[in-house]
Amino acid sequence: MTTATATEGVKHELKVVKNATCTFCGCVCDDIELHADAVRIVETKRACILGEAWFKNHTAERLYPDALIDGREATVDEAVEAAAEFLHKANMPLIYGLSNTTCEAQREAVWLAELVGCVIDSHTSL
Ligand code: SF4
Repeated sequence: MTTATATEGVKHELKVVKNATCTFCGCVCDDIELHADAVRIVETKRACILGEAWFKNHTAERLYPDALIDGREATVDEAVEAAAEFLHKANMPLIYGLSNTTCEAQREAVWLAELVGCVIDSHTSL
């Protein structure tokens, strides 16, 4: 569904997505209504404050390169190679983070942790 709105004299076409799923905290609310223009989500009906912040901070803008190695832009293949090298050389490798990460990616992270002998932890340990 699309609607139109005017902000500061500029007319935007809004796309409305009903029953969107929020994957931020794990509750997985699936009744969120999102309103988005061509670049960003501008309204999040029924999302809590965390979900609203999560949705509104994701844009279609390309803010970052696909990968960084030591702060320098790199291809994904180069980054995967560098990560493999870091993990191979590490004495006590740790896979950490995984918030806002899909179940599929978490499954791969656990598989990698078992393969390399890593400790795995999420941000919730903070
Ligand atoms: S809307 Fe809020 S409670 Fe629901 S999944 Fe997102 S962060 Fe969690």
